[in-house]
Amino acid sequence: MGDAARRNVALFGPAGSGKGTQAEFLNRELGVEHIATGEMLREERSRGTELGQALAAYLDAGKLVPDEVIVAMIRHRLSDPQADNGFVLDGFPRTLAQARSLQELLVGLQRPLDIAVVLDVPSEQLVARLSRRATLEDRGDDTPAVIAERLRIYHDETEPVLDYLSQSVPMVRLDGSMPVDEVGQMLLKAIA
Ligand code: AMP
Repeated sequence: MGDAARRNVALFGPAGSGKGTQAEFLNRELGVEHIATGEMLREERSRGTELGQALAAYLDAGKLVPDEVIVAMIRHRLSDPQADNGFVLDGFPRTLAQARSLQELLVGLQRPLDIAVVLDVPSEQLVARLSRRATLEDRGDDTPAVIAERLRIYHDETEPVLDYLSQSVPMVRLDGSMPVDEVGQMLLKAIA
């Protein structure tokens, strides 16, 4: 595997678009650190800490947790030496406030974002994929009502982030409805 030129990647796409799968693929192929905020929040919750308990209501309802909480968590991970070799952000930033904080943070760390990649998948396919995942992974937020809410929030809160970031970061859109391996290969080409 050759060295990718762009190692600091932000992966976007609605719930069910394959961000987690493709971020894991980049981690295996390139050794970049996979930073998944949803995963971090679910872990915090399962530890049963006070913060974890406070997060449960947001996660179950598919609502975004407050920006301050998520920015504090991500600050830790991005400044860690494990991100020296590059990172792939999966599920962050999801709001304009988070995107602004991220940009500031990365300027301070001298680790600018190299590229943003968006996985586009039609909503009917997302709903089908997420309903399947609900059965396989027992994720409480993959129920029809919560799925609809997460897709609405992506549209209302996260799509504006794409416009904002595209002013300063190269952005590529990929057809995330293709088979997993093909999306992976397109992704590698996009960041090469
Ligand atoms: P995900 O695994 O990325 O689909 O995230 C699962 C849930 O975690 C989301 O529905 C939100 O409740 C929460 N979450 C994950 N990332 C963020 C974020 N960047 N900002 C706010 N909430 C988040």
